[in-house]
Amino acid sequence: MSTDTLKVAIVGGGITGLTTAYYLQKTIREQGLPIEYVLLEASDRLGGKIQTDYTNGFVIERGPDSFLARKTSASRLVKEVGLEDKLVRNYTGQAYVLNNDKLYPIPGGAIMGIPTKLTPFITTSLFSPAGKLRAALDLVLPRSPQHDNDRSLGEFFRHRLGDEVVENLIEPLLSGIYAGDIDQLSLMSTFPQFHQVEQKYRSLILGMRSTTPKQPKSAGNKKAPSAFLTLTTGLQSLVAAIEKNLDPACVRKHAPVQKVTKTGQGYKLYIGDGSAVYADSVVVTTPPQATLRMFTEYECMRLLADIPTTSVATIALAFPKAAIKQNIDGTGFVVSRNAHYTITACTWTHKKWPHTTPEGKALLRCYVGRAGDDSIVYKSDEEIIRAVLHDLRRILEINETPEFYHITRWKQAMPQYIVGHKYRIEKLSDELKRHLPGIFLAGAPYYGIGLPDCIDQGEAAVKQVLRHLRT
Ligand code: FAD
Repeated sequence: MSTDTLKVAIVGGGITGLTTAYYLQKTIREQGLPIEYVLLEASDRLGGKIQTDYTNGFVIERGPDSFLARKTSASRLVKEVGLEDKLVRNYTGQAYVLNNDKLYPIPGGAIMGIPTKLTPFITTSLFSPAGKLRAALDLVLPRSPQHDNDRSLGEFFRHRLGDEVVENLIEPLLSGIYAGDIDQLSLMSTFPQFHQVEQKYRSLILGMRSTTPKQPKSAGNKKAPSAFLTLTTGLQSLVAAIEKNLDPACVRKHAPVQKVTKTGQGYKLYIGDGSAVYADSVVVTTPPQATLRMFTEYECMRLLADIPTTSVATIALAFPKAAIKQNIDGTGFVVSRNAHYTITACTWTHKKWPHTTPEGKALLRCYVGRAGDDSIVYKSDEEIIRAVLHDLRRILEINETPEFYHITRWKQAMPQYIVGHKYRIEKLSDELKRHLPGIFLAGAPYYGIGLPDCIDQGEAAVKQVLRHLRT
């Protein structure tokens, strides 16, 4: 690396950009590298989709509410910034699926809807006898021909387990994560492990039974710990703690990047206020549409147009506890597409994460909008809340009006990893190396949308940038 100071620009201050800035700054300081960085965020706040609201003693997550514990990069980052004592893990609660106007408990042992225990699957009334028999065919069906061609999750699961299990259970569960259409989402970019299990064990059911670690035994009446972690102070406190660790001189808010052009060995970034930043390397962590606009003159970036996005909205509703007449033991429900409701999922947040809700209150968080059906997100607050309350009345017999509610629209915010996604992203990355060396893309549109996936990508971007600057 030359001794002249090199400059790195990080575009977008969501969790991916923040992680990149944090670990880049750490490496620069630890190794005494002659590198400066700047984090450019369009809005007046950092965190992107992470937004916590603290109204009347509630901790209300407007975007993500927790992260998978098994993917360790998120808890590592939490520890790095000194929030370890705020980490909280809840207990596995019963979740439900709404189908035919009825809440069915999700059968025990169902991993993403794939049955791994016999009795709960046989005894549930969520599937008809014919649907159960069709799912059991998985036990004898041959494995799919070995090829790496991508296909949709719908095609894969419908073939193995039949339409009924897919529509009544797998689709609503997956929708909850991707707000996507199961018949378009890519198997290889979302759950490649299911393909691998099928290849190794032939039967998905038998393979999942063999590979799923036994649930930690619950002691006495205590439930088993869940797979998720969050922060008692809200996920926004992670954003605040990272920001506190960053050199304020390196963080620019109200700095929308409008255009990036190649200039000699580096890049010029045009900012909305008329200023410009020069950088030797750029990590771009913005949503695909925004990134595409920055690089309109570069043909290779056109591949970004092939990443569709869906709009969703979260609606948090605070009630007095007494308003929830049906005291169902559980943490919430997802809604099957066949159920014809506006809400796609509802979390009983006061039960799932008790620290979020003051004594005597209840906090529900509903989702609306999914792939191919997100027009509700563009309606007025009044229309959205009317539709949500109508559904809650039908499902949970809640007749009271909430003490307050927050609607958060996430327009075109959920990238859809449709069939061929992996191939397109690999191609994009190859093209960038060739035509725009030193530009790196990271974040939810590429290699995983979960918070730990975004953090992994931020960490990987730091390594890519340093490798580039060293050559
Ligand atoms: P973003 O958070 O979108 O950040 C991008 C940043 O770029 C933003 O701050 C934006 O203002 C900025 N920007 C945009 N344009 C420009 C520009 N021109 N110049 C400069 N800056 C710009 N994941 C989980 O793990 N667990 C969950 O429970 C969970 N729930 C979710 C619920 C919802 C409703 C949503 C929407 C997502 C959820 N996710 C969840 C996914 C996860 O929150 C996101 O994938 C992740 O936060 C994305 O982070 P990011 O940094 O890649 O992008």
